[in-house]
Amino acid sequence: MYIGRFAPSPTGPLHFGSLLAAVASFLDARAHKGEWFLRIENIDPPREVESRIHKIPQTLEQFGLCWDGEISYQSDNHERYQETLAKLSTLGLTYACDCSRKALLLRSGANRYDNFCRSKALCDAPNCATRFLANIPYVPWTDRIQGTINASNTEPDDFILQRKDGLWSYQLAVVCDDYAQKVTHVVRGYDLLNETDKHIQLYTALGWSIPSYAHIPIATSATGQKLSKQNFATPLDTQNANLQLCEALAFLGHTVPVMLRKSSVQHILQWAIEHWNIVHVPALPSRIWPNS
Ligand code: GLU
Repeated sequence: MYIGRFAPSPTGPLHFGSLLAAVASFLDARAHKGEWFLRIENIDPPREVESRIHKIPQTLEQFGLCWDGEISYQSDNHERYQETLAKLSTLGLTYACDCSRKALLLRSGANRYDNFCRSKALCDAPNCATRFLANIPYVPWTDRIQGTINASNTEPDDFILQRKDGLWSYQLAVVCDDYAQKVTHVVRGYDLLNETDKHIQLYTALGWSIPSYAHIPIATSATGQKLSKQNFATPLDTQNANLQLCEALAFLGHTVPVMLRKSSVQHILQWAIEHWNIVHVPALPSRIWPNS
């Protein structure tokens, strides 16, 4: 059984980087005769653009990327996150933290949390975040593209489950939803590779089975900047969907025959499903993509 998904956050228009994750997860699912779900990760209203929530499915359809079943929205799943948080708390794996970003920066000068509040036993208060007590021994794991991932630079700190302002963290939400949707295979960008250790810690703590992971290289500009909505990456051009699809496939190590490049996105995808093999995806963190 194979269940895959594409899980974009509606913080801006889909760009070439998003297309890569959509195409890779779609093809891997279809090549395994699996299901492919679309989940809109709209748990961060201040950063979201309302119109994007409707635009993402439209754009995917223009690229021939049709999902199975209903679209799911993280904004519908607050109860699920709350229940999981309560479960973790019963297991003694959460604690309250009142550190400000500034205090953390002054103490450790880095993004990594120094587990400062672990032993403080603060009472849950409105101005506290809830953190996960990440004390499960690290077990190296295998990414289907990137190979063995060791603890050297990815071992998680005590990460946030619920922010001070009440918003859920990506970590908690993504694990709850992948579990609830019975996702067996996650295919996404390398920028989330380091987050995966946190996800594995959560699955382990909750006694849930861990999906298999594949992290595709991310597209960067010639100056090494990641294409992202925050960097105002150029939105996808749906007028030339077939050409951009071929670009995405070439990036992912699958070169579409010249005679097919001007055909419909459906034809190109059909060819790609037949020829998809994840071993052809380069095992790199990133690739410069000049045309993006
Ligand atoms: N929502 C995340 C993003 O748009 C991706 C989540 C995932 O694939 O796990 O970057």
